[in-house]
Order: sequence, then C-alpha cells, then structure tokens
Amino acid sequence: MAQAKIKAIRGMNDILPGQSQIWRYFEAQVKGALDSFGYQEIRMPVVEQTHLFKRSIGEVTDIVEKEMYTFDDRNGESLTLRPEGTASCVRACEEHQLIANNRQQRLWYMGPMFRYERPQKGRYRQFHQIGVETFGINGPDIDAELILMTHQLWQRLGIRDKVSLQLNTLGSAEDRARYKADLVTYLSERKDQLDEDSARRLDTNPLRILDSKNAQTQALLNDAPDFHSYLGEESREHFEQLKALLDAVGVEYVINPRLVRGLDYYGKTVFEWVTEELGAQGTVCAGGRYDGLVEQLGGKPTAAVGFAMGIERLILMLEALNAVPEYVLNDLDVYLVAVGDVAASAMQLAALLREALPNLRLQMHCGGGNFKKQMKKADESGARFAILLGEDEVKAGQVSIKSLRGEMDQISLSHDSVAQWLSTQLVSQ
Ligand code: ATP
Ligand code: MG
Repeated sequence: MAQAKIKAIRGMNDILPGQSQIWRYFEAQVKGALDSFGYQEIRMPVVEQTHLFKRSIGEVTDIVEKEMYTFDDRNGESLTLRPEGTASCVRACEEHQLIANNRQQRLWYMGPMFRYERPQKGRYRQFHQIGVETFGINGPDIDAELILMTHQLWQRLGIRDKVSLQLNTLGSAEDRARYKADLVTYLSERKDQLDEDSARRLDTNPLRILDSKNAQTQALLNDAPDFHSYLGEESREHFEQLKALLDAVGVEYVINPRLVRGLDYYGKTVFEWVTEELGAQGTVCAGGRYDGLVEQLGGKPTAAVGFAMGIERLILMLEALNAVPEYVLNDLDVYLVAVGDVAASAMQLAALLREALPNLRLQMHCGGGNFKKQMKKADESGARFAILLGEDEVKAGQVSIKSLRGEMDQISLSHDSVAQWLSTQLVSQ
C-alpha cells in the first residue's frame, strides 16, 4: 500500500535556495545596523519552561490562551516552544547576572518563534524574529535610539518610504489602573454594543479592546475616556522628551492613542512600524518599554525597552517592492569546466584559487560530461566566468577563461596567474 507522503507541518516553511539568499542579505543588513550601534548578540534555547511565558506574557493574552505549542517532556515537565524572545532573554540575563546591579545591556537575538495561529500570508506557525532588548536604561534617549536604529535599517534596505511609525504611551501601572477602571465603567454601560471578543476582554484585558478591529467597537471608543488625559507627570514628560528626540533626528511618527500592543508587560513607550504593502499583516516591527517585567519574573526592578521585527513580513515587503539588489541572488563568480581525465588537476587548481582568494565563489563541475554539457551548466550557474580545463590545457599548464556575460574574448593564462587575473576582475575580492 502506498504510504502518504510526509510533509512539513502546516504554517512551518522551508526556506529554499532562491529565498535563502534574500534571508542572508536581510540578516546581513540587520547585523550591520546592530553593529553600528554597538549591540551584542545573545542566543537562547527555543524551548523553555511553560510558566516562564505564562508569567511574563500574561495568562489572558492571545498567545498564552490559544497560541502556544506546549507539551510535557519525558519527565512530565511542561515545556513550550518559545512564542517570542523577550521572556527568554530576561530569563537568561537574570540567570547569568547580566543585569545585576542595574548593569546596562544592549542585546539582540534572531531565530524562530512558534505560535499556533491561522496560517496566511505574513502569518505562520513557525516564523522568525530579530529581537532587540536593552536593560538598565531609564531615559527616553534609549527609546529614541531603538526607533532610530530601525529607521536606519529601513534606509539600508531601501524601504524607508514604505513604512510608517505609530507611537503611543501606555503610561505607568497606576495611570493604566485608573484609566482601566473608567474605561470598564464606560464600556460596561454599552456592553451590548461590543463585539464578542471585546465583551469578553472587558473582564480579562480591557485595554486590548482599544485595538479591536471591529468598526462598531471602534466607533463606541470615540467617546470613551481619553487615555492621554490620565497620564501622570513622569509618563507625560518621558513621552514629550521621546517625541522631541525623534523630531531632532528627523524620524516622523503618528501618535496613535489606541496602540496598546498584545502583551501584558508593556508600559510607557509603545511603537509599531506598519506598511500598506502587505494587506492585513501590516506590522513589521513592534516594541516598547517593559520596566515591570524583570521584577515580575523574580528579579529586581529594572528599566527595559525592546522590539521585535518579523523577518518573513519584511522579506515579503522587499520582494513586493523589488528592493532586493540583483547581486544578492548571484551565488557564483567562477564555474570550473573540467573535460576529460583532469579531475585531479582541476581540484588542485580550485584549491589554489580558493586559497589565494578567500572570498572567491568557485564551483567545480563534478560528474563528468562533454564540453557542451559542462558549458550548459556553466551558463545556468549564474557565474561570471568559466575556467576551461581540458587535457591539452593541463599538459600546457594553461587554462582558458571565458566570460559568461560576453564582456571579453576568451583568454589563456598559466595556472599561476589565474588568481592574480581574477582578483583584478572581481571587484569584491
Ligand atoms: P500581530 O498583531 O500581527 O499578531 P503581534 O502583536 O502578535 O503581531 P509581536 O508579538 O509584537 O506581534 O511580534 C513582533 C513582530 O513579529 C510582528 O510585528 C510581526 O512582524 C511578527 N509576527 C508576529 N506573529 C507572527 C506570525 N505568526 N507570523 C509571522 N510574523 C509574525
Ligand atoms: Mg499576534
């Protein structure tokens, strides 16, 4: 009986050649931006104890209520595939005393996250984030730095005009508590007009109602109490200074008083970079300040602010906007055609060239075949030059070099001079 073909899990994607070059390009740009601001990489496991996420993200958030991949391991301990990186990062910092005595840290990480969501364009069950977290820094200057860093990244990627910054403040825990009470009073009197999700959130997570997608709920909120009038002096000042810093460095923003973010742990600054290029999944980067989280996880009160960007969404954007430079998809400089009984010489030559030019990308033809067949492969390879090695060439200690883009006539060179010649041709060497 034929067995059913084994397939990848729904919402979990293979990243194939053709795509992986774009990922590498994207990651290199992000790393460049992070390096230019002096951030350090941290790598955490993808599995953690379940209660780490319950305690940090919050029991009544979408993630913890319905999106986590949770299972018992063989010892019966409840583990979860990380749905985001902030909780793990805080756990690691605490565990290794990276933030003891309010030591400052500016960290980043990259990797897969797992959420049981309905897969669609820009929304997957295994997706990838680059996350940035900073600790021990109170002022709005670090909030501004993070936003400026993302802004410069969009510039590097050539998509700065296609994203816009939504900015809000969630005030302090006290500001929110006072506001929540009044919001709940206002909405409870109109509960019959709320959508189902929002009515449920009235008891569990009322602030989330502010970003309901339901039009009637949104209309109802127009006359609801205005959060910004509940801001205490310190939160207000923090927000004003942040805006002034962004103005000073030329980062434009739109104040969106209904931007509340999905996770429980945010306070003061929150922001999202959104695009219109991707339809419903328009948020490509989101973050904010979470001064309460370290303490919530058992540490000392610690200032913290960070963000995470969704790599799949940003890559979809680069593709939609044709913003991937052509060279990115090109993997080869040289294709080495080796016709006849010349494999040993070809390998020696290839080794010589790779040693002389560490950045050279050279593929040697393997598997035999006549000249015509090998040249066809060379043409398909995308390489700029073919080096031709046959039995006559080996005897004469020569190679022929042919441009695969028709930029020059075929030339002959001695084995020893090929590296030197290539180095003048390949600008990147
Ligand atoms: P959304 O409202 O789109 O569900 P979120 O608020 O749940 O996003 P965060 O937890 O803040 O998202 O994650 C930061 C970023 O990671 C998002 O802005 C998005 O770019 C990306 N992201 C989140 N969930 C997914 C997913 N399931 N698939 C792909 N990218 C995702
Ligand atoms: Mg979500």
